[in-house]
Amino acid sequence: MKIHQLRNATLLLEIGEHFLLVDPVLGDVGAIPAFKMRGGGRRRNPTVPLPPEAPALLEKATAVLITHAHHVDHLDPAGIAWIKERGLDVWVSPLDMPALRKKGLNAKEVTDGFLGLRAEIVPAVHSTGIMGWLMGPVTGFYLSAPGEPSVYLTSDAVLTQNMLAAVKRLQPDVIVAPAGAANFGIGPDILFSIDELVTLTKSCNAQMVFNHLESIDHCPTTRTDLRDRMQAEGLTDRTHVPEDGESVTFEASSTPAPPNISTAPIPRHGFQKWLVNQVAKVM
Ligand SMILES: [Zn+2]
Repeated sequence: MKIHQLRNATLLLEIGEHFLLVDPVLGDVGAIPAFKMRGGGRRRNPTVPLPPEAPALLEKATAVLITHAHHVDHLDPAGIAWIKERGLDVWVSPLDMPALRKKGLNAKEVTDGFLGLRAEIVPAVHSTGIMGWLMGPVTGFYLSAPGEPSVYLTSDAVLTQNMLAAVKRLQPDVIVAPAGAANFGIGPDILFSIDELVTLTKSCNAQMVFNHLESIDHCPTTRTDLRDRMQAEGLTDRTHVPEDGESVTFEASSTPAPPNISTAPIPRHGFQKWLVNQVAKVM
C-alpha cells in the first residue's frame, strides 16, 4: 500500500490493484476562495501549486474517493472537470451521492466489499459545538485490501471518543489525518490540534500520515512544527509528514485479523448546508 501525497488533502492511494484519487482539488494557486476571516493571513487558495509529480500520478488514477464533497478544499471545480474528462467512478458516503450525481458525476456508495476492499464509512466531526454543526457531517473511510496494510482516512475532523473507539475496534495499520489545525479566525479549530494528533497517535500502534498542511490559508500548523513535536514525543518512527509529491510505502507486517466492520447508520446533513451556502453567497 502506498500513499502519494499531492497537496493538502489530495493524495493518490495505491491499494490492492487500485489507484484511488482522494479528495481531488486540482485548481491552480488562488483558484478557490480564502477561508481565513479574521486575524490576518487571508489569501485565496490553494496557496501552493500541485507538485511536479502530480501529472504522472494523476494519470494512474483508476477511481476517485471523496471524504466530504461539500467543502471546496476537498473537491474543486478543476477536480470535477478532471473526473468528468476521464469518466472515473467517484466513491463516496451516501451523504454526498445526491449532490455529486446532480453535478453529473458517476457517484457510487462506499460499502464493505466495494472494489474488492473491506471498507467502513467512519463518521467524523469537523469541529466542536455550533461550528461542528455548521461544518456539516463528514465521513472518514477504513479500507483494507487482502495482504496489505489497512488504512483509515479520518477525513477533516477533531478528536472525539467515537473516533478513538473506531480506531480501537478497527486497528488500522495506517491512519491518514489532516494536521493543519484550521481555524477561520472566528470560533474553535475545525481540524485536529497538534495535541489531539499526539493523543490519537498514542492511542494506537498505527503508522500515521499527516497532511492538509501548508496549502490553505486557515491552516497555521507547519510541517516543521509537527515534526518537531512528534520528535519531542518520541513518535518519529511511526509518524510521517510527507512533502507534496512525496510517496510513503507500507508493507503488511503479518496476516491481520479480519476487521470488525460496523454498519451503523451515519449522521445526515441538516439545514446547515443551505444556511452556509446562503452566507457564502453574500461574502
Ligand atoms: Zn479540508
